[in-house]
Amino acid sequence: KLQQRIHGTTLEINLNALTHNYNFYKTKIHPQTKLMVMVKAFAYGGGATEIANHLQQLRADYLAVAYTDEGVALREEGIALPIMVLNPAQESFYLLEKHNLEPVVYSPLFYSQLGKYCRAHQVSMKIHLDLDTGMHRLGFDQQQLGDLKVLTQQFPELIIASLYTHLVGADEATHEDFSKRQLSLFAQMCERVNLLLDYKPLRHALNSAGIIRYPDFQFDMVRLGIGLYGVEVNGIFDQKLRAISSLKTTISQIKELDADETVGYSRKGKMSKKGKIATIAIGYADGYDRRFSNGNGFVLIHGKRAPIIGNVCMDMCMVYLDGIDAKEGDEVLIYGPGISLKELASNIGTIPYELLTNISSRVKRVYY
Ligand code: PLP
Repeated sequence: KLQQRIHGTTLEINLNALTHNYNFYKTKIHPQTKLMVMVKAFAYGGGATEIANHLQQLRADYLAVAYTDEGVALREEGIALPIMVLNPAQESFYLLEKHNLEPVVYSPLFYSQLGKYCRAHQVSMKIHLDLDTGMHRLGFDQQQLGDLKVLTQQFPELIIASLYTHLVGADEATHEDFSKRQLSLFAQMCERVNLLLDYKPLRHALNSAGIIRYPDFQFDMVRLGIGLYGVEVNGIFDQKLRAISSLKTTISQIKELDADETVGYSRKGKMSKKGKIATIAIGYADGYDRRFSNGNGFVLIHGKRAPIIGNVCMDMCMVYLDGIDAKEGDEVLIYGPGISLKELASNIGTIPYELLTNISSRVKRVYY
């Protein structure tokens, strides 16, 4: 309550809903399939430490972050689960070693750089090999797999804990053929790597959408992201997941305006008839996208939709109260149960991932 009075905007995280979503995905994978959870980007905006802590209690097998410092922050908060780092910088090798973080290695050059580091410091390190089957972002392509024969012999300090690939369009039916080609190429590439080793790394390819769409390709582990946070991007199991976060703010002021009066910067909002507007305490500096301006976004007040009127400002925006009986200080739901993030995101040409990860650090996170 106090925090809400300090700054009207709060992100409430429901850890029971998170458990519910986690258990839902558990029912979709084989008992022996391991579960890696993506807690990169501040756990998709929800707060990495608290969510990682909760996942540790739920006995997730692995966590993944994008950058080394995200992993370091988790270790400093006492998270003991294995942590994969997707895109570690060369300058951070000593931090990977110090904090027992497991880097992704995506190229022959990176392999030898890390190998030389480990040789010089007389340490071994668990690594994960990214195999490029069509994403063309990071990863060893088929030709570069040839280099691995020499590299694995040259640097036995690097222990390949897993091999993985990433699907380009797991949530889209139009990409099903391509996804299947990626998955079969991945299986072939894994076999080639396995021939070089006297141990068997884990293999993993599926993200949240893939877990639902390609249940026969779980390999040894899956990588769960957005689904845990309550969005079933395929749309197949929308009703089975629960929104884990509610972004809330309050009404600062209500005004009554005449028809044709304008609202906000550049006079972009216009009253079509006499009516009320409410100014609410959230703006683009909180991560509320400016593209929601003028009817592209809406909020819920007492369960009813109020569209944004005028341009979203840095710290505030205005909503049109058509038939909504509200007063100053009332609660406003920006994202949360009853609001489809997919609908909101598509209104402004983006995806739910961006809405969630954009919620800025000045928005207080509260867990219950
Ligand atoms: N695996 C990798 C390599 C990723 O980059 C991501 C997210 O971007 C995921 C898995 C999780 O994807 P999703 O959030 O769609 O489940």
